[in-house]
Amino acid sequence: MGIRRLNHQKLTGIGMTSRRTRERLINRLREEGITNEDVLEVMLNTPRHIFLDEALSHRAYEDTALPIGHNQTLSQPYIVARMTEALLAGGPMRRVLEVGTGSGYQTVILAQLVRQVFSVERILPLQEQARERIKLLGLRNVKMKHADGTMGWPEKKPFDGIIVTAAPRTLPRGLISQLSPKGRLVIPIGPDQDQKLVLVTRDGDGYKKEVLEAVRFVPLLGGAIS
Ligand code: SAH
Repeated sequence: MGIRRLNHQKLTGIGMTSRRTRERLINRLREEGITNEDVLEVMLNTPRHIFLDEALSHRAYEDTALPIGHNQTLSQPYIVARMTEALLAGGPMRRVLEVGTGSGYQTVILAQLVRQVFSVERILPLQEQARERIKLLGLRNVKMKHADGTMGWPEKKPFDGIIVTAAPRTLPRGLISQLSPKGRLVIPIGPDQDQKLVLVTRDGDGYKKEVLEAVRFVPLLGGAIS
């Protein structure tokens, strides 16, 4: 499958920032080692400023994490790119589960690269905002659920890929069981000051674990809140 392109007219309505500003961010991602051209192209063409409060939107194309309220953050573009690239490195994906919708930015990047995205968020107001943004961009291949995503989304399994954007202390085994036979899980694991981004590849009944790099994410928390 190729890239799903965002509707040009919708983007004009949103007030898409100058291409130069976005190109600068993409050049930086290249310098940091991102090589997947599809990921880079999708990030070049996705407005990140609509995922932020107006007071912060002028910083949207900096390579940095930014607050989105409720003690949560919009992930750093480099991390979004790195996780997406690691997820897709095994070949094209049809069904992908995201745990931790947050602002919806990572969701929208994924939705342009895979056939169907399933995204779970435990904080209802964040989910509702994300839903509006996804609609604004005209994407129709995202299904959302308000729940604790630690146990994944069992009714929708199997997933070719799972991406988790908040960090548990240890690997949630339940998620691995929702992967398809060659499925890939990208997840930050560990306590606040000592997290590693890990790629888990399912291999028959077992799985393989590979540490990608040190990261810093908000914690994966139990229970859903309205
Ligand atoms: N990818 C998002 C990251 C947001 S931060 C973005 O770039 O905007 C992580 C998100 O995970 C938060 O919105 C937080 O509420 C959510 N989260 C934490 N624990 C969760 C859980 N158990 N189930 C679902 N979502 C969870």
